[in-house]
Amino acid sequence: MSNGVDRLPSSLYIAGKWRDATDGSTFPVHDPATGEVIAEVADATPADALAALDAAASAGEQWARTAPRVRGEILLRAFDLVNEHAEDLARLITLEMGKPLSESAAEVRYGGEFLRWFAEEAVRIGGRTGTTPEGSGAMIVTHRPVGPCYLITPWNFPLAMATRKIGPALAAGCTAIIKPAALTPLTTLYVVSLLEQAGVPAGVVNVIPSTQSAAISEVLMRDGRLRKVSFTGSTQVGQTLLKQAADNVLRTSMELGGNAPFLVFDDADLDAAVDGAMLAKFRNVGQACTAANRFLVQAGIHDAFVERLAARVNALRVGHGLEDGVDVGPLINAGAGRRIRALVDAAIEDGAYEIVGGESAEGSAYFPPTLLTDVPPDARLFQEEIFGPVVAVTKFRTEDEGIALANGTEYGLAAYAFTADFARANRLMATINAGMLGVNAGVISNPAAPFGGTKHSGMGREGGSEGIHEYLDTAYAFVPDVR
Ligand code: NAD
Repeated sequence: MSNGVDRLPSSLYIAGKWRDATDGSTFPVHDPATGEVIAEVADATPADALAALDAAASAGEQWARTAPRVRGEILLRAFDLVNEHAEDLARLITLEMGKPLSESAAEVRYGGEFLRWFAEEAVRIGGRTGTTPEGSGAMIVTHRPVGPCYLITPWNFPLAMATRKIGPALAAGCTAIIKPAALTPLTTLYVVSLLEQAGVPAGVVNVIPSTQSAAISEVLMRDGRLRKVSFTGSTQVGQTLLKQAADNVLRTSMELGGNAPFLVFDDADLDAAVDGAMLAKFRNVGQACTAANRFLVQAGIHDAFVERLAARVNALRVGHGLEDGVDVGPLINAGAGRRIRALVDAAIEDGAYEIVGGESAEGSAYFPPTLLTDVPPDARLFQEEIFGPVVAVTKFRTEDEGIALANGTEYGLAAYAFTADFARANRLMATINAGMLGVNAGVISNPAAPFGGTKHSGMGREGGSEGIHEYLDTAYAFVPDVR
């Protein structure tokens, strides 16, 4: 692969055919580091979206009746193909989204694992039987695929967010229409071409990159054949989709925004806390829904933690993700940089101190790794998802105060806590209001674990044994005992 994109799929994939948009339109995909156009991709119209739904609906019955073992084996082949093409995929992720190549390689490994995990889950869907309490007969509970699914993914993990939805949907016996983010459609198209090679039948997976997200969603969600929408992205768009889903009473999974607290208690292992902080903050240039957003540090360890962390942040190398030794790539675009700059400036105006930081060139997607202390808890930097390489620290005194600060947000996706006290860790597991808690750990995602949030961070779980049930309806039959 020379520039990484010449031979890659860039059209729509509908009913097993690669084809142009009905009106022939395309849109450019850029390298965020340079602004260069790296590919032109077919721009699906609402008519194309309906063609994809036609295909998904027609293929649905046959796929639902395909033996779970066969569905699983196809997903396993796709897992192997992702690994065979890991280098190309990693390069492509870096080219269209910017993260350093080593992180893209990690995303390929992590994202591929969803295909293997759900290949294994396909044959373990199960059910249960029992006798009614009064002995009147048998209750038989089974699970059935919900039907055609609309899967909408964001730009920050273009491979993993796609496989985390496609894997369970296909394993459950559902067909799918995928709409990748217009900023990063190439990785998803590549993965879908591997699914095709793996033997996924025509119509079972369809992909419609588009710049007309709202129009496409509207026609799909109005059509009664669609039965499920699974969305990963911002809370604001999730709220719109939930309203649209109400009309046809669609099953919904919503993986939305986060505002993760990162608690460091006086008794924490300082090295582990600093290592964890670097991972939780700088992975993906800070553009992760699970990224640590608010560093809440107890008074006794605060200064030592800040000093050690500042040294590490200062040493980060910023540059193009394809260069060797780069730790921090560009943000997804210059607009993201302007938004983060405004948050940082406002926090400084509100009394925060910039310990590490710097200027960013106007119009550039690069943002200097930054560390602020004394950030007031009501600063926008603490209230909003930063989605960039900015560490915002504030001090707390008691455990109760730390927990109250951690829970003082409308979000509830991930949280992190560093403490050597097991009893305290147990209390935190009970009191931190988030779907996921890292205890002395800066990374928590795992295909075998249920990923998801509470409150404005969404509903439903991806991964784990829970993930496949997002794509299954429960059916119950009663058989009277006639003896
Ligand atoms: P976004 O909401 O702007 O876009 C996400 C996707 O929705 C894209 O494919 C976009 O094209 C599409 N979209 C936009 N408007 C739409 C509409 N009206 N109808 C249908 N689709 C529409 O989010 P983003 O900026 O791409 O991603 C960043 C956000 O995603 C952050 O808030 C982050 O926390 C969240 N996120 C959450 C998780 C999670 O699992 N909870 C994982 C990754 C990212």
